[in-house]
Amino acid sequence: MREQTVVIIGGGLGGLGAAVRLAARGRRVIVCESGATFGGKMNTFEHSGFRFDTGPSLITMPWVFEDLFSAAGSRLADHLELAPMHPISEYVYPDGMRFDYSSSLPEWLSTLERFGRSEADGFLRFMELGARLFAVSRETFLRYRPRDWWRAGEIAGLRRMPLRFGWGNYHRTVEAHFRSPHLRQLYDRYPTYVGSSPYQSPATLAVIPYIEYAFGGWYPQGGLYRIVESLVELARVLKVELRAGARVASIDRAGERVCGVTLEDGEKIRADVVVMNGDAGDAPGLLGEAGAKSLAPNDRSMSGLVFLFGVGRTMPELRHHTIFFSEDYRREFDELFVERKFPSDPTVYVNAPSRTDRSVVPGEGEALFVMANAPANDGDEWDEAQIAEARSRVMATLARGGMKAFENDVVVADVWTPRRIGAKYLMPGGAIYGAHSHGWRKAFLRPPNKDRRVRGLYYVGGGTHPGGGAPTVLISAQITSELIERYEKS
Ligand SMILES: Cc1cc2nc3c(=O)[nH]c(=O)nc-3n(C[C@H](O)[C@H](O)[C@H](O)COP(=O)(O)OP(=O)(O)OC[C@H]3O[C@@H](n4cnc5c(N)ncnc54)[C@H](O)[C@@H]3O)c2cc1C
Repeated sequence: MREQTVVIIGGGLGGLGAAVRLAARGRRVIVCESGATFGGKMNTFEHSGFRFDTGPSLITMPWVFEDLFSAAGSRLADHLELAPMHPISEYVYPDGMRFDYSSSLPEWLSTLERFGRSEADGFLRFMELGARLFAVSRETFLRYRPRDWWRAGEIAGLRRMPLRFGWGNYHRTVEAHFRSPHLRQLYDRYPTYVGSSPYQSPATLAVIPYIEYAFGGWYPQGGLYRIVESLVELARVLKVELRAGARVASIDRAGERVCGVTLEDGEKIRADVVVMNGDAGDAPGLLGEAGAKSLAPNDRSMSGLVFLFGVGRTMPELRHHTIFFSEDYRREFDELFVERKFPSDPTVYVNAPSRTDRSVVPGEGEALFVMANAPANDGDEWDEAQIAEARSRVMATLARGGMKAFENDVVVADVWTPRRIGAKYLMPGGAIYGAHSHGWRKAFLRPPNKDRRVRGLYYVGGGTHPGGGAPTVLISAQITSELIERYEKS
């Protein structure tokens, strides 16, 4: 039997996940990554002993990561030390209210009592809805593209869909379960995990807070980039050829089938199968077809404005994860998605991994990742004045939430605008999750994992089915690898 060669365009989490799975099944795999490092959006920045994750800061569904390691004959625990987050995060409100979102159910139910008896009931009903949605999704959406549900006989599973809320609007469903404006804002935040607005997303996204609560939020000691480093190690053991600084300029075809890729420097690499981990909308351009199908600006998920601060003193007042909310959430999302501008009063997320993991700082100090949502932007880069204005709004939110001033103690600083995020990872506008999830079709009918016209061409990653976010991207790697197993016999 002839060994099949698979070229993967992009060494993001999706590309690495697919590489490991395909190499473990005996294929020769070459990963071509245009950047200097692997990991794509799950990346790292180190300076003066401060180590920052520049992308995800928390993972959910840890079994997805375990599955990947075991598919390669290894054990996650031999590579990574995953720590559960207790509490998951602290929430801070403009009116001075603050509380821990405890991962211990008795503790959380007792916090909810402060808001009135019905809130604990509302929480339990909301989790029950999430649990039912999860049970349906794991048999359908998280395993196959919708069109394959029929073939897999899983369409019957949809009959278990909780109809009353399942097909409604996310925010209205939150309103139906919680009375407190504080709790409504807390649960309204979850669609931002897929770059979307709670006011425009379907209620099916209630599966996200359920997954986080039921299975926990996890942090790998040493930082999220340890996941990428472990996958790179695993890929090397499996003899995957990992090529950084190798941008693919074209996908080559012989008739209706792919036959390889050509790199920007002209080098040709022959392949039986090509997997696109970069933006799926770039594929037509790489195939030499006119009119690349990049997402329309109105279809894009949010981007972010990220500040990385190495602070020279410890900040015991901070949790590992803290969310400082804006005053008017609806207005914030109108600004992001309708006016397409940076919010006048942004909600700010502060990730301070050094609060629980001192290996990411040089002795004293904190490594802070400070992020506000921002609209995707493929217009001009923000100028200095725009960045300074956005920074002052971010700092105003933090000061209002009682965070002690720290700017005079900053020893390392870096800023990532939507445009910089987009340019670094070759994704239009820096839209972190590809398309937003507004409406049922957008949320569930993501681009397919197998090209419908060109044989031997597949897709993996957040821009394709089932969507963005670290664990979901690894599920996409599993789906794509299974499709290759099914359709590409050696
Ligand atoms: C600031 C930020 C915060 C985030 N927070 C979270 C979080 O808390 N939790 C979570 O689950 N997720 C989070 N995410 C999202 C998560 O990082 C992504 O969903 C996931 O990492 C995407 O992986 P991917 O493989 O789909 O794509 P990418 O990481 O984008 O990888 C694609 C790779 O393809 C390469 N490429 C593209 N075109 C070419 C070409 N022509 N030739 C060669 N290489 C090419 C790119 O350089 C890139 O490295 C965050 C992302 C960011 C940026």
